[in-house]
Amino acid sequence: MIPYKHEPFTDFSQEANKKAFEEALELVSKELGKDYPLVIGGERVTTEDKIVSVNPANKEEIVGRVSKATQAHAEDAMQAAVKAFETWKFVNPSVRADVLFKAANIIRKRKHEFSAYLVKEAGKPWNEADADTAEAIDFLEYYARQMLVLKEGKKVESRPGEYNRYDYIPLGVGVIISPWNFPLAIMAGTAVAAIVAGNPILLKPASTTPVVAAKFVEVMEQAGLPAGVLNFIPGPGAEVGDYLVDHPKTRFISFTGSRDVGLRINERASKLNDGQIWLKRVIAEMGGKDTMVIDESADLDYAADMITKAAFGFSGQKCSACSRVVALDSVYDELLAKVVENTNKLSIGNPVDVTNNVGPVIDAAAFKKITSYFDVAKQEGRIAAGGTADDSTGYFVAPTIVADVQPTDRLMQEEIFGPVVAFTKAKDFKEAIDIANNTEYGLTGAVITQDRTNQEYARANFHVGNLYFNRGCTGAIVGYQPFGGFNMSGTDSKAGGPDYLTLHLQAKTTSEMF
Ligand code: NAD
Repeated sequence: MIPYKHEPFTDFSQEANKKAFEEALELVSKELGKDYPLVIGGERVTTEDKIVSVNPANKEEIVGRVSKATQAHAEDAMQAAVKAFETWKFVNPSVRADVLFKAANIIRKRKHEFSAYLVKEAGKPWNEADADTAEAIDFLEYYARQMLVLKEGKKVESRPGEYNRYDYIPLGVGVIISPWNFPLAIMAGTAVAAIVAGNPILLKPASTTPVVAAKFVEVMEQAGLPAGVLNFIPGPGAEVGDYLVDHPKTRFISFTGSRDVGLRINERASKLNDGQIWLKRVIAEMGGKDTMVIDESADLDYAADMITKAAFGFSGQKCSACSRVVALDSVYDELLAKVVENTNKLSIGNPVDVTNNVGPVIDAAAFKKITSYFDVAKQEGRIAAGGTADDSTGYFVAPTIVADVQPTDRLMQEEIFGPVVAFTKAKDFKEAIDIANNTEYGLTGAVITQDRTNQEYARANFHVGNLYFNRGCTGAIVGYQPFGGFNMSGTDSKAGGPDYLTLHLQAKTTSEMF
């Protein structure tokens, strides 16, 4: 077994890579507008009613039409999954892992094709799309290896004449509900973690990005996953989501998305329904309001580069995106000026063109929500860059910097989930960390400093699930920086970490007397 190593990112400054990606974009352009069915118990089911997936950079371009599941389809899928559990739970975990290894290889061979779909369906710039695909491959490779470790169980003690074992067994049917912002990586990662642990799933991807999910389902079939283990049921969150969360045969729910939907799922899942004989497990990874703290010892050019990338990469539509900057008084003005300068150099436009490093936001609702904060910005602070938007062809919002806001302002508290970053001042490092901690979230954070005392103070006091020093707060790598947050950011499941699969398993103790 080759040791796990994360999938390298593609260097698009190399002409050969650029050309290969352009070819993939061309290939995908020819495939646009196709129909994709539901997959229930291995059967393809086509519905009249469709989810129409639109390119957010070009509203005229239809990426695909995906069949839309109703509650009746969700019920059929549940029955198929319940049936599949009877056999899948006994399949040797190594064989289950092999399906993931093969799927990783299929995606690796078609890497640019998958990334090109992400450019078209999610509006990701090339490097962001490439990172999303690489992360999906990483989840497959990493969770497969984790299962090979966990299949041995854990060591417990035995007395003379006794043999005790501690083994991990699957849980049951899982409902996987994924967001649109990592439409391949998070969707695939949450799906295969459940599957490799021996649990059939019902996969409900986000309605804005169902095509790339449909492509992934095809890959899992090609890799040899038996019918009924992965049931694909895109559909409206409120209708299909609620039905499955409430279902008595649902054993666990793995959700990634917003705070409000996470809370709703957590509450509904806690209610006992007729025929239900377990407590449902909920993995809920939710929103963020992530802070970068810059002290007076920091290299300000470097800090400005890190902030620009973390705030505006994928138009700030990452749960880990930097949406708040807290700078010490003495460096605030200079730092702000440098970030404004960087931001004004960013090129906004359709991400099919590699020179555009800021693409659109995901849809009309996101456009409306994000731009509604421009008025708030004018009341609470001062717009130092951006503050403009254009939805004539796609949903483009200029990277926006709001200076001089107060720590308790809405801009510093609410998850905007777009290219908007707010700056505030602190008089000393302790106050900076207090400000960083004063949200209900606790997902990621970063500190740029050369001061070891400040760094250690932050390590102990900055309360986030992923804390980074001397880098930006985005870009966690599977197996290197396990990912998940505190407080309203969710259950801290640490995706891509050594404990993640155990959340999809239950431990069984057996004890034999000789
Ligand atoms: P969302 O909560 O709107 O939707 C997420 C998923 O939940 C979608 O598939 C949606 O259809 C579904 N859903 C909606 N209502 C539902 C219901 N009543 N029952 C069941 N499912 C329902 O989130 P989004 O807009 O897709 O994603 C953005 C959010 O996700 C942001 O808040 C972001 O911070 C968060 N996010 C968190 C992480 C993390 O790891 N913590 C990672 C990525 C995104």
